[in-house]
Amino acid sequence: MPEGHTIHRAARDQRPMLIGHVLDISSPQGRFLEGAERISGHVCKAVEAYGKHLLYDFSNGMTLHIHLGLFGKFRAIKVPADEPRGAVRVRMISATHVVDINGPNTCEVLDMSGRDKLVARIGPDVLRADADREKAWKKISKSRSAIGQLLMDQAVIAGIGNIYRSEILWRQKLHPNVAGKDVSREAFEQIWDDSVALLEKGVKHNAIITVDGAVKARSKYGERVNIFNKPSCPACASAIRRFEIAKRRAFACETCQIAPEI
Ligand SMILES: [Zn+2]
Repeated sequence: MPEGHTIHRAARDQRPMLIGHVLDISSPQGRFLEGAERISGHVCKAVEAYGKHLLYDFSNGMTLHIHLGLFGKFRAIKVPADEPRGAVRVRMISATHVVDINGPNTCEVLDMSGRDKLVARIGPDVLRADADREKAWKKISKSRSAIGQLLMDQAVIAGIGNIYRSEILWRQKLHPNVAGKDVSREAFEQIWDDSVALLEKGVKHNAIITVDGAVKARSKYGERVNIFNKPSCPACASAIRRFEIAKRRAFACETCQIAPEI
C-alpha cells in the first residue's frame, strides 16, 4: 500500500498540471460516469493530501476524493491523451496534462460538508504544516494499544505505513508492542520529528529511505531500509524478529528494542 509520502508526492507533481485549469473529466472504464459529470468542466482550485487521501477541489464547491488502497495507481502524461491503459476509473485532462487514476479503493465526489467530515476523521498528518501533533499525543498517551498498531491507525496519526512503522520504531529503539500509554512524551516527540524528516525525504526522492546517508538505489528496499524484511540488525547484528501487528508484517530487533514485560 502506498504510504503517505507517495500521496504527497502525487499532489506535488499534479498541482502544476491541474490547478487553474478547467478539467475535462471522464471515466473510460465506466464506473465513475455520474461522479465525473459532477466535476467535469470546472476549474481545479487545489490538490491536497491528507494522510493517504488525495482531494481535488473544484470551483463549483465539489471535491474529488481518492484513496488508492492496495492496488490504485496514478499515471500522468502530457497532452495529447493516449488510449486509456487498463481500467481507468477517472481521466482528468487539463490544457497541458492527462492524469489517469486506475483501481482506487475510494473514488467519490464530496460536497463541502462531506469534505469537512472526511478531513475531521483523518488524524494529524506528519507531512502537513498545519498538523496538530497534540491531537496524536492525546490519543497515543491514553491508549492501551501497542505503539506499533497506533502508528498505523490513520485516525491517530496519518501518513505512516507499514515500512515506515517498523523503521521509525527501530530508529527510536522502541519496541512495537509497548502500549501507547507507556510511551514517554520525549519518545513521542522523537517519533513525530523523525516521521516528518523521513517522510519528507520520501516525498523528495519518491522512495522510502530510512538509512541515514543512503540515497535512492535501484533495488526496491535493499540498502535503503534498516530492518524491514532484513535478516539481521545493522546496529547489533542480532536476528530480526518478524511478527504481525494489525494484520501487517512487522519487524523488530529485540536487542535494540526491548520488549515490554507482560
Ligand atoms: Zn539491534
